[in-house]
Amino acid sequence: MNAHILELRSIEAGYGVIKALHEVSFSVEEGSFAAIVGANGAGKTSLLNLIAGVVAPWEGSVWFNGTDITSLQPYERVRLGIGLVPEGRRVFPRMTVAENLAIGAHLRHDRQEIEADRRQLIEPFPILGERAQQLAGTLSGGEQQMLAIARALMGRPKLLLLDEPSMGVAPLLVQAIFKAIGVLHQRGLTILVVEQNAKLALSTAAEGFVIESGKLILRGRSSEILSNESVVRAYLGG
Ligand code: ATP
Repeated sequence: MNAHILELRSIEAGYGVIKALHEVSFSVEEGSFAAIVGANGAGKTSLLNLIAGVVAPWEGSVWFNGTDITSLQPYERVRLGIGLVPEGRRVFPRMTVAENLAIGAHLRHDRQEIEADRRQLIEPFPILGERAQQLAGTLSGGEQQMLAIARALMGRPKLLLLDEPSMGVAPLLVQAIFKAIGVLHQRGLTILVVEQNAKLALSTAAEGFVIESGKLILRGRSSEILSNESVVRAYLGG
């Protein structure tokens, strides 16, 4: 069995008086591809932001490769290998595609390897090569999502966190994005994706978690979750 790359222990978190995550404990194995699905407002973004260090827990701890990272800042977690592709992509619209990618590598100094990594990303995301000099703000939603993923990859993460990669993206590009994510997983990257589009996420990832009202209520093989009609009806809008 592979080692755990990430572990959350008894997390409680929220905003002011609003509790967004309740008794959340789970682990992610190195090399795995897991999807966390749930309705609008279930706590998916809060959970990813907590792992990235953008949201601090009220209680509980976060472990990465066996180290307690609960008190580390987001940039320190990036250094350790946690890459977040945030909800809504947040590319820098007035900078070019190439400049956005360079920002993703700003903590690195290995120039030749940075260039090699950039070239490697053109295969899953051809747009990055074709549009290197285009302003990121003029790309379509799906193209911006690809850029945001590639920007995170330029930091050489060991764990890639993806927040709703299908949001605001045309269906054809959604398929292309999930296909590319599958390629990245095959290359050995550990991936945790949160999605409102449960069917899409669970049909790509091997493992699934269902989150409802801030609680993880189900964990299993994606195919089993998807084939459980009562779960799909109750929690996945099926
Ligand atoms: P969505 O798909 O709509 O983004 P989600 O599953 O990602 O939903 P979260 O965004 O994590 O859910 O929100 C979980 C709960 O926390 C919700 O009740 C939400 O209103 C609340 N919440 C999230 N961010 C904040 C904030 N900055 N301040 C106050 N409450 C917040």
